[in-house]
Amino acid sequence: MTEFRKILRVLCFLILFLPDSHSYAQTATPPTGRDEWSGDYEPFRIAGNLYYVGTYDLACYLVTSNAGHILINTGLAESADMIKSHIEKLGFRFSDIKILLTQQAHWDHVAAMAKIKKLTNAKLMVNEKDAQAIADGGNSDYLFGGKGSIFKPVKPDRLLRDNDVIQLGDTKLTLLHHPGHTKGSSSYFLDTKDEKRSYRVLIANMPTIIADPSGMPGYPDIKNDYVYTFEKMKNLKFDLWVAAHAMQFGLHEKRKPGDPYDPELFSKRGEYLKALSEIETEFAKKTKK
Ligand SMILES: [Zn+2]
Repeated sequence: MTEFRKILRVLCFLILFLPDSHSYAQTATPPTGRDEWSGDYEPFRIAGNLYYVGTYDLACYLVTSNAGHILINTGLAESADMIKSHIEKLGFRFSDIKILLTQQAHWDHVAAMAKIKKLTNAKLMVNEKDAQAIADGGNSDYLFGGKGSIFKPVKPDRLLRDNDVIQLGDTKLTLLHHPGHTKGSSSYFLDTKDEKRSYRVLIANMPTIIADPSGMPGYPDIKNDYVYTFEKMKNLKFDLWVAAHAMQFGLHEKRKPGDPYDPELFSKRGEYLKALSEIETEFAKKTKK
């Protein structure tokens, strides 16, 4: 066998057996994560008052205002110190976080919530459909629940519904209820601006499929919820988009550490629609009887 063919065989093996970014971004068994989840990535300004402060793959977003800050997602339980150091590296104070939000009640996005809430005294606001799972540490999760708490439980201060506005000082976010991945999965719209122009940013919760989307006792409406979410998400209008996992919006292909400020990196609507349509195709296959 020639050297070239050997290399080709190895490559084919890797492509066949490495899980795709959707499945490995969302289906690990708690409390273990993957290196991409706990690895570091430099914090940076995405657009206007929106900053990336997460781990290598677990996206956490800081939205700054003249009355304190909003933090969306926390990563794993052990991610708290990294997020704190990222916020400080950007020149902001961790203790100025006033509001905590999340995109879904899964441990890879909320496991440090209890700790960060305790350290900052911030108000936790969650989609009402995920509130129970947050409050019992994931024990009521339709898929991973039933075995006790997966992450440290934390009681929400305010329950949110579709189109609710989260206002802090001169900034505001709008919650978009995108159920399916979890019952209370949420995206957000943020209107922001920089020295040049204004942007509508979608912080998307991509509706990746982790269970049988036809239905199950713990989530009988799951199929209808996915159908609703695909329809809603396909029709959203925005200038820039990011998502709950860096790999879902191709952060590491778009940007390398040290790259200058460039919101346009995140403008690719075609990539967003393609990612959605791939998930929808998977959904169609899995729900076909
Ligand atoms: Zn998840």
